[in-house]
Amino acid sequence: MKKLLMGNEAIALGALRAGVSIVTGYPGTPSTEILETIAREAKVSGSRASRAYIEWSVNEKAALELAAGAACSGARVLVTMKQVGLNVASDPLMSLNYLGVSGGMVVAVADDPGPISSQTEQDTRRFGLYAKIPVFDPSTPEEAYLMIADAYNWSERYGRPVILRPTTRVCHSYASVEILPDLPQKPPAGFDKAEGRWVIFPNLSYRSHIKIEEGLVKMGEGFSAYFGNQLIGDKAPAEEGDDPVQAPTLGIATGGVSYAYAMEFLDPLPPQAKLLKVGTFPFPASLALKFLNGLDEVLVVEELDPVIEDELVRLCGINQLKITIRGKRSGDMPNAGENALASVGEKIESFLKRKIWVNISDLDKEELPETTLSASGLSPAFASLSEVPPAALAAAAAAAAVASGPPPPEAPPLPVRPPVLCAGCPHRGSFFAVKEAVRKYAKGRKAVFSGDIGCYTLGNAQPLDMVDTCLCMGAGITMAQGINRAEALKGNSDSLNFAFIGDSTFFHTGIPGIVNAVYNKADIIIVVLDNFTTAMTGNQPHPGMGRNVLGADAEKISIPAVISALGVKAIEKVNPFDIKTADLAVKSLIEKSGVRAIVFEGPCIAVSKSVSPCIVDTAKCTGCQSCIKKLGCPAISIQPVSAGAKLKALIDPVLCTGCGICKEICAFGAIGGAAL
Ligand code: SF4
Ligand code: SF4
Repeated sequence: MKKLLMGNEAIALGALRAGVSIVTGYPGTPSTEILETIAREAKVSGSRASRAYIEWSVNEKAALELAAGAACSGARVLVTMKQVGLNVASDPLMSLNYLGVSGGMVVAVADDPGPISSQTEQDTRRFGLYAKIPVFDPSTPEEAYLMIADAYNWSERYGRPVILRPTTRVCHSYASVEILPDLPQKPPAGFDKAEGRWVIFPNLSYRSHIKIEEGLVKMGEGFSAYFGNQLIGDKAPAEEGDDPVQAPTLGIATGGVSYAYAMEFLDPLPPQAKLLKVGTFPFPASLALKFLNGLDEVLVVEELDPVIEDELVRLCGINQLKITIRGKRSGDMPNAGENALASVGEKIESFLKRKIWVNISDLDKEELPETTLSASGLSPAFASLSEVPPAALAAAAAAAAVASGPPPPEAPPLPVRPPVLCAGCPHRGSFFAVKEAVRKYAKGRKAVFSGDIGCYTLGNAQPLDMVDTCLCMGAGITMAQGINRAEALKGNSDSLNFAFIGDSTFFHTGIPGIVNAVYNKADIIIVVLDNFTTAMTGNQPHPGMGRNVLGADAEKISIPAVISALGVKAIEKVNPFDIKTADLAVKSLIEKSGVRAIVFEGPCIAVSKSVSPCIVDTAKCTGCQSCIKKLGCPAISIQPVSAGAKLKALIDPVLCTGCGICKEICAFGAIGGAAL
């Protein structure tokens, strides 16, 4: 059955056909109708869309993070935005590529050449190359409808998000699209803690980077055989006895809507030309090399950045091919604005009628601008480092040494310090209180703990093990919403989703996530870990502290008051060192539903005064090790009080701040203050 569809409608129906179950986005021309179409379809009883979760998020970052939480729970997700919205979502997207996904994620980013309704003429293909994320670039609504299903398959095959990048004329043009049967749809598998796989730590990022690079090479190879990339008019050499074949010497490389324009003039293709259509990135280099074989000149027809052009120039350089590449860089094509049917036709016509060979080596060196010679940073007087007289180099080195002063004394070797929350850290009490409350009151409900960026990410370490996800600043609150939505789609409607966030991160990007949760009726527990400072970066002030960078008084913004003003009704405020009170506060929130919050207020040890250290009464200590196994405070160790004696807990008085949390853990009353 064929249906007349706008490009954005085709993308929406293509995503539903592919089994998308979570759809988020922020409106922006030319992308808006994608999500609107799915919302309209959701009103049709029994439709796939009616079973999906759909929301307009508070911004593109929140939309992407929520979808990331769902994609980490195995759901196929779609996030929609325009190109400038990608700037807002770039923080989570860049990191998510390193973290990976288990359900397919397509980020539909509509570019706006012209621009017609945007501040910039950004090219999302370039963003994809920069972010190391594959990009699918459809040329028509029909192609977009088919391509999005492939985009999900590629996303799941490589476990990474992918971008679908239509441009205005693909989004807003109409075409008759063949509607195909729905593809099989799997319910989300649900969130799997998978040994910290979803927490982005530097060593994970390093390993992921290697995998990403390997994946990009494989994808580039695979894309050479993908239907979105086409080589048209390539002729096999004549066999003996056959009529001689006129080998094309001119090539036209194009992609996106420019391909559709070009084909208006090139169908049938003249015998002297062949055509390369590029619909995916990483660039299909093998196919492009086949295209370049035997050509003298290539005209590149594309909108926005010279992305295809640059790739072809690079390929020619690597393979030492003497081919003139004409496009934006050569001044043959406009470097701004939209392409149009007439302008593309004019350029192609002119290209096919003429053939001008300009070889850079034929130009006199004097004609090159001075900047070419000085591009290395050397004075134009020297073309390379080898031409600089040794005396001049020695003088420059001596001058640099004088300017930088005497070398600093060698630093002593640093002690090995495992990544763990400090002794006396208030976050230890907060994590412990939540963990214990979940153990006692969750009654078998699945609990997932989303973390955020800050020293409290270390709450993921044993024995606390309280951070299941960490993506980027402010993402904990939104990821918790996504995981909760995916669990609900799986049929688990009572999952407990906690979102931990520090005070500085709360002000950085946490607030929009709360607005999103309240507006979209989420079911999560927000846990603010307020330690009265920006601890991880060196105790800088933030808006909740009442002083500014100069130490002068500033308006002190109350975190509980902000949360309340955002519409959260159930809010608790507790001292993380008072475990019993905190336990009851968390219990009361577990028993409620909707968006609720608890604010733990306790100072970082770097800004608070240490009291007398605690000590262990070895006569009472049974050596049960509960204080170690439950808390993981680095001040507590276990060792024999004398050679061969039974193991007892020991508190290091240098490290212990006297916070007293361990006193509440010990069931034998063996830990007390210094006066014990
Ligand atoms: S009182 Fe206990 S938990 Fe607190 S710092 Fe000292 S040893 Fe660690
Ligand atoms: S101090 Fe208490 S909790 Fe720690 S090992 Fe001794 S008895 Fe067990």
